[in-house]
Amino acid sequence: MNHAPIAMAIHGGAGVLTPGLLSAQDESDIHEALRLALDAGQRILEAGGSSLDAVEASVVMLEESPWFNAGKGAVFTDEGRHELDAAIMRGSDRAAGAVAGVHHVRNPIRGARAVMEHSEHVMLIGEGADRFLEERQLPQVANDWYDTELRRRQWQDNRLKGGTPNLEPSQADHRGGQDEPPEGHKFGTVGAVALDRHGHVAAATSTGGITNKRYSRVGDTPLIGAGTWADDRSAAISATGHGEYFIRAAVAHDIAARMRHARKDLETACRDVVFQELKALGGQGGVIAVSPDGSTQLVFNTPGMYRAWRDGEGRPHTAIYAQDDRVHG
Ligand code: ASP
Repeated sequence: MNHAPIAMAIHGGAGVLTPGLLSAQDESDIHEALRLALDAGQRILEAGGSSLDAVEASVVMLEESPWFNAGKGAVFTDEGRHELDAAIMRGSDRAAGAVAGVHHVRNPIRGARAVMEHSEHVMLIGEGADRFLEERQLPQVANDWYDTELRRRQWQDNRLKGGTPNLEPSQADHRGGQDEPPEGHKFGTVGAVALDRHGHVAAATSTGGITNKRYSRVGDTPLIGAGTWADDRSAAISATGHGEYFIRAAVAHDIAARMRHARKDLETACRDVVFQELKALGGQGGVIAVSPDGSTQLVFNTPGMYRAWRDGEGRPHTAIYAQDDRVHG
């Protein structure tokens, strides 16, 4: 039996998630959705599969869940449709694939992987990307398949308030009126990082972006080095938060660079970037990361982050708020 370490962590978005915001039923549904998504990847790792397959499997589960802002449940653009972004990266050779502003692929993370494996490019956008994914025969959906009532209400509420994109997690720190969706639901980009038995790491991230986004806005998620990065010489990282800041701080790559060039450990590198670099710019959000020695980090500067991870004994943990930790099995 191979006793090389494996590691896995996922996120379902960072934001103003404070106790009392979600009903007890919502909380347990979200914990369950996170646990199932973690399991999907972990099963692959335990069977000796690749970290790339594991992160894809977990992100597909999160995209299929209406709780998160990716795939089904993605936020609406200002025009009332959905434009999805996703990226995937393999640490063994830094192969990477990304899609931005796509409209019809059921699972954008599979689209990102198709770009990585079946094109000579790293990133495809908009209608050209739609066409490529259709040609590759990835399952397609009508754009309104991603709709959920919750996201529709957010879009409409935001339009009533002037239609500005929902950019600032910090501004959402109140419960709002009776008819408003809970603020915590405004976030929910998803991601996964994994280490397999062969010592290879991988990262995947998928999102609908930010509510009421305009002008084909693209955030950090599909940008290799900003929201997503994997390199066996350092770590695999997936980010969530206010994408404009994550782009300007090149968050995912900066964490890896600190490990490689300044010999920082994973925890120090993640904390320095999330609490110092990002915060100094005013950026809010978090990251999940694993390194080839099996270390796992889940670090955020917001009150909460939907997240799940596997501990050293293989037990799954799920959490929503900062102090949260639900152990399963
Ligand atoms: N980072 C994503 C974006 O800016 C949003 C999020 O993580 O919630 O598109």
